[in-house]
Amino acid sequence: MPHQYRIFHQYREIKQKKENLRADECVLQIDFSENYACKAETETQSMHFGGSRKQISLHTCHAMFRDHVIRCYCTLSEDPRHCAESVWAHLAPVLDDLSKTGITTIHFVSDGPTTQYRNKTNFYLLATLPFTQWNFDQVTYNFLEASHGKGPADGIGAAIKNGADRLVAHRKDILDVKQLLESLQNTVNVKMYEISTAQISSLADSMKDVHLQPVPGTMKIHQLMTSKRLQGTVFHRHLPCFCSSGDSEFCTCHSRMKFQVENAKCKRVDSVVSRIEMNLSRELVTKFEKRIAEGYDVIIEDLDTLDESSRLEYLHWKVWRAVKLQEDRGADSDDDIQDCPVESDSDEPDKSDQDWEPEEASPSAKTQSQTSLL
Ligand SMILES: [Zn+2]
Repeated sequence: MPHQYRIFHQYREIKQKKENLRADECVLQIDFSENYACKAETETQSMHFGGSRKQISLHTCHAMFRDHVIRCYCTLSEDPRHCAESVWAHLAPVLDDLSKTGITTIHFVSDGPTTQYRNKTNFYLLATLPFTQWNFDQVTYNFLEASHGKGPADGIGAAIKNGADRLVAHRKDILDVKQLLESLQNTVNVKMYEISTAQISSLADSMKDVHLQPVPGTMKIHQLMTSKRLQGTVFHRHLPCFCSSGDSEFCTCHSRMKFQVENAKCKRVDSVVSRIEMNLSRELVTKFEKRIAEGYDVIIEDLDTLDESSRLEYLHWKVWRAVKLQEDRGADSDDDIQDCPVESDSDEPDKSDQDWEPEEASPSAKTQSQTSLL
């Protein structure tokens, strides 16, 4: 199906949905903004790995209710993760707020970077959390085609960053999330919340033992639909539709298909990484994960310059990083293979028609030479 047609179709369907929302429905357009770089910090900060400017992740949500009533949200975190678990940690205060408005059905809209939104973990969380945590009745998730242009969520990120830049221009230092929140709280018409590393880690930890099967044809999915009643059954299709034909909860248009998210928690295969982590403190693992997410390595040229505990940390880091990168690569290629299944299935993707957007380039590996770890 031509790319242009799909863009047109999506635009029309979502626009029509927005025009015809029920009182208990909302369209929630979500997106990560480009990080906000805090104003340059002092020497003590620059001693840390990861450079001298603290980066703040901004996740924005644009909620549209019936009669075009709008509510804007921005969640901010010093945690650099943009994975599916992170997305849902960022969504939590927004869904808290929406659940108090009488909304029972949410239509999520986002673009489709695989690391953040278009992946089996996000599908699983979509099929469980809205019902178990917030008691919503129905959700749909709509992936926009690549290069659809700027959405309303972009405007929220821009408003926050412009507001912060104005304050900095007036000699106000913005060095961390708390200062950004306090400075802007009452100056922009956006509900803002801080998301801590602990909140993201706790969701990530809860997923550690959840073994998920890759969903065939993931890259071609443009709409997911599920409900409290369906209990883990997720419908999906290559084009969105919001018509109410048929007598099931969701129409069957555009060759609707389905899968079941695995709810069974099974022990994950004991990986080398997890065995190394068993011997490390939680703080150290978090520190290592942060460095990986930011694409940093640390090279110590002379181990003798380190004290005993720093030397140990360094050695653990080198081993952990090497194994982690290897295991991640292994896991990625596994997914690729399983996302293009060999068994004949109605939703088997056509390998010649790789019409998905390229995955975001991984941050180029940065290397930092340090003589001290602390
Ligand atoms: Zn339909």
